[in-house]
Amino acid sequence: MPAKLPEYRLGVDLGGTKIHVVVLDRKGRIVGSARTATKGERGYAAVVERIARTALEALDDADVKRKSVKVCGIGAPGPVDAERGVMHMAPNLGWIDKPLARDLGKALAMRVVLGNDVNCGALGEVAYGAAVDARSAVAAFVGTGLGGAVVIDGTVVNGAHGYGGEIGHIPSPFGDAVCGCGRRGCLETVASKTGVLRLINDAIAQGRKARLDVTGTVKSSAIAEALAAGCPVTKAAIDRMVEALAWGLCAIGNVVDPEVFILGGGLAETLGKPLLPRLAGMMAETSVLYRRQRPKLVMAKLGDDAVAVGAAVAAGRPV
Ligand SMILES: [Zn+2]
Repeated sequence: MPAKLPEYRLGVDLGGTKIHVVVLDRKGRIVGSARTATKGERGYAAVVERIARTALEALDDADVKRKSVKVCGIGAPGPVDAERGVMHMAPNLGWIDKPLARDLGKALAMRVVLGNDVNCGALGEVAYGAAVDARSAVAAFVGTGLGGAVVIDGTVVNGAHGYGGEIGHIPSPFGDAVCGCGRRGCLETVASKTGVLRLINDAIAQGRKARLDVTGTVKSSAIAEALAAGCPVTKAAIDRMVEALAWGLCAIGNVVDPEVFILGGGLAETLGKPLLPRLAGMMAETSVLYRRQRPKLVMAKLGDDAVAVGAAVAAGRPV
């Protein structure tokens, strides 16, 4: 690591339901943290104030004085203009074109760097997590939806409109289910927890029996348990998810040819490491690129801290 990294960096993970802040030291260790509910219904200004307050709590937790911190990164849930520090859209919070970096910067009296949350998560994994020292990486986060990010030479590809690495909405040949974005057949309609549950529900509607209660909220752990118990309906849905994910990663792999693929997100991390060789095998069947050499796949390591850590990394870049 270059010597010019700041002594301390603040990193914020702004989610639809929670705000999580970490204080990173020069070596990337978390030396303090704080967390609170977002309470988005109170409006933009109130949320900015809550982020600032939580950041001060994290500094207090770390026994670090506010004046000794010069930079704060924030990973926010939606497309951003990283250069201007503007959040284009936050569907979970109802925000459109908010100058979040400027407003939080004023509240904290320091420089604030804004990034997309998924991009920050991938950057955190490359800097201090599962893919340390990788020159290039592609991350796929399989949770409620499917998030993705492309990191090249330690820098996230944000793209011209803030949609860089947005793999969930790649048009795919895996059916024509309606996606959250309004289109049909996007990759995340199969390669996500929502997609898996939809496939299971479809099978139940066709009269098949599942060893999984799909009424109400279904946890990823319940899906993993049904799979381990040999539920054929769950197995078929997961097989389909793996197939779709392999297809998506091969599509990006053929463009970017990354050194490593990072797999994370609630469902992927719950299914755990056994998922990796299955996915690698399916990728080898899907693309000639990976028939010649197996893709390198790793499981995300930083869990809940990934976004906040990555945001701090983005903010603390020596300039
Ligand atoms: Zn979509």
